[in-house]
Amino acid sequence: MIQLIRGFRDILPGDVGLWQHIERTAIDLFRAFGFHEIRIPIMEKTELFARSIGDTTDIVEKEMYTFPDRKGDLITLRPEATASIVRSYIQHKLYAQDPVRKFYMVGPMFRRERPQKGRYRQFYQIDVEIFGVMSPLADVQLIYLLHVLFDRLAVPDTQAHINSLGCPECRRGYRRVLVDYLNTVADRLCADCRRRKDTNPLRVLDCKVPRCREALTGAPSILDSLCDDCRQDFDTVQEHLTRLEIPYAVDERLVRGLDYYNRTTFEMQTGLLGAQSAVAGGGRYDGLIEMLGGPSLPATGFAIGLDRLVDVCGLEGSRYYKSPDLFIAALGEASQKLAFEWVCDLGIRGIQAEVDYQNRSLKSQMKQAGRHRARHALIVGDSELSQGTAILRDMTSKEQVDIPLDGIVDTLLQRLNEDK
Ligand code: AMP
Repeated sequence: MIQLIRGFRDILPGDVGLWQHIERTAIDLFRAFGFHEIRIPIMEKTELFARSIGDTTDIVEKEMYTFPDRKGDLITLRPEATASIVRSYIQHKLYAQDPVRKFYMVGPMFRRERPQKGRYRQFYQIDVEIFGVMSPLADVQLIYLLHVLFDRLAVPDTQAHINSLGCPECRRGYRRVLVDYLNTVADRLCADCRRRKDTNPLRVLDCKVPRCREALTGAPSILDSLCDDCRQDFDTVQEHLTRLEIPYAVDERLVRGLDYYNRTTFEMQTGLLGAQSAVAGGGRYDGLIEMLGGPSLPATGFAIGLDRLVDVCGLEGSRYYKSPDLFIAALGEASQKLAFEWVCDLGIRGIQAEVDYQNRSLKSQMKQAGRHRARHALIVGDSELSQGTAILRDMTSKEQVDIPLDGIVDTLLQRLNEDK
């Protein structure tokens, strides 16, 4: 038997209801705040990701699904959405009339990471971006949206972790003091970090290896290297988070895996996930639009890991599985013909009805109605037909009533809708 690819997974019908509920809740919220959906391709030219995410990041160095297409051009399955959304914004000159644009998208991403619980090679993200707004209030609004969404989804024990990466100026200064420090503890770092210290020293701060975390206890804080403008920007973010009563912690080690971030970065973390504690992450990336060939416009955004959000949300998945409203136990050919028409008629009016086409006994059909978790069963056989009625049974209370065949679809519609 052919099995699925390692790190990939199926999301089965019993689970999909909760996924859909989470997606709908998120989309309703984002739309209420003026965000519009954008759909971007699953594949892009490799160059787009290599340039935007950064050559020395884990994603570009070792996690992308990259291959030559039939003509030999290198293409990559998207590992994240921001680069494509920026490309689309530039390519279609979406900034021309009004540079301020607010987007969301939902879809799969691909990274060839080591699979483990909460980490997949195809995973899903909900992505939100605000282009063209320089004010730190845009960052606050994004964190606020995450806070409200997680609350609506009953995610327990969440907190926003925030940091500022400053502007390229502050970062240059910080990079120097950080590298000086890292050189003094180089022998205590893992092999990856010894390499990173020269290629991408800020990423060392993010390393999860315990000995690296220990070696970093005395590391200088980026917050001490911020210029006045960046410091003020970060103060504004904190002031408004406090005013909105959003719980947050300043986390000087939060640098995140992608190169393009500046100023405020943030993650939503939960105590429930252990090592994979980030359910969402994002921040400002003011240089990216220009770097990819567009005008010099600021941007900020976040991505939610949908797989992880499903794991930590406090909602009962089985509540979102749609059971039939009605199971019709039809006995005999004449009843089955009628039942088939009723199912069609009810379906187009929003009532989900199921029928058994195999002419089984009443007892086994009623068992089937129970297995389907139908709310009601309608029983109709030759004797009911001759009396011009059918029997409607409430599967929970077991109450039964006779209803006339004449106008039966309207009667069912009324009764079942009353019961919903
Ligand atoms: P990133 O694009 O790396 O900032 O990730 C944003 C969010 O996507 C993270 O906080 C995770 O919740 C989720 N995520 C990232 N990589 C994976 C993965 N391999 N499997 C599942 N979720 C992931």
